[in-house]
Amino acid sequence: MAELPELIILSGQMDKELQSKEFDKSEFRQEKSLNLPVEEFIQKIKGKKIINAFNKGKWIFIKLSDDYHLLLNLGMGADILYYGPGKDIPSEYQCLFQFTDGSGFSCKFWWMGRAELLQDQELSQHKSTKDIAISPLDDNFTQEYFRELCKARSQIKNLILNQKKIGGIGNVYIHDILFRAKIHPQKVANTLDSNQVDNLHVIIIENLKNALDEGGLAFEKDFYGQQNGFEQDFFLVAYNEGKPCPECSNTIEKIKTGSTSSYICPNCQKL
Ligand SMILES: [Zn+2]
Repeated sequence: MAELPELIILSGQMDKELQSKEFDKSEFRQEKSLNLPVEEFIQKIKGKKIINAFNKGKWIFIKLSDDYHLLLNLGMGADILYYGPGKDIPSEYQCLFQFTDGSGFSCKFWWMGRAELLQDQELSQHKSTKDIAISPLDDNFTQEYFRELCKARSQIKNLILNQKKIGGIGNVYIHDILFRAKIHPQKVANTLDSNQVDNLHVIIIENLKNALDEGGLAFEKDFYGQQNGFEQDFFLVAYNEGKPCPECSNTIEKIKTGSTSSYICPNCQKL
């Protein structure tokens, strides 16, 4: 599932490739992934130009002319693929956006993806995105900000995955982050001491920055259909159930933590 590193890469490529392109025909094969009826969506987006693209948490924001935004959410994963003028259109998709210059991009959502067209004035009321918090790679994700969050009486994993507190981390990068910090995912945030909190803050940033520098998860295709980046062996404990802990050689376990699963070393990450 795409998280902050993959979304920064994808939205960056979209920004570079799509600026000033004008929407022509669109095609939608799955109305339930849209916020408008198909015909209305097609009619409204036609003629709008792309100003820029960026990510906000796990959403892609595409700013359009006429005070509109196209928002994309990859759900459990998606192939968002560009094709140049005259090139073949990807065959499988739920959404196809074509531009007046003959180029375009398709969205194939694996599960639960969204494409929404909103007027700028509707953004402040948009339930799914209005409360998305800053991301760990934003300048204002400071030690002070994180210390404040950790005063909460919630389990540390739930806190970090809460998109209203920190945008962009899901159930992929969290495992190695907590392992490196030697913190059990169910540890209550306000029981961590100040060294643990500050250390965790540094590790969150380092971990995501490193993943971004390495090109993100190769499993996720980029805008050009490339699967660059790293494979599963990048991870220390995530998805390594049954293998030895790289620190202490104890066996890595997969445990239930509320509605999610977690990969931990039970020796390094005691509750
Ligand atoms: Zn260990």
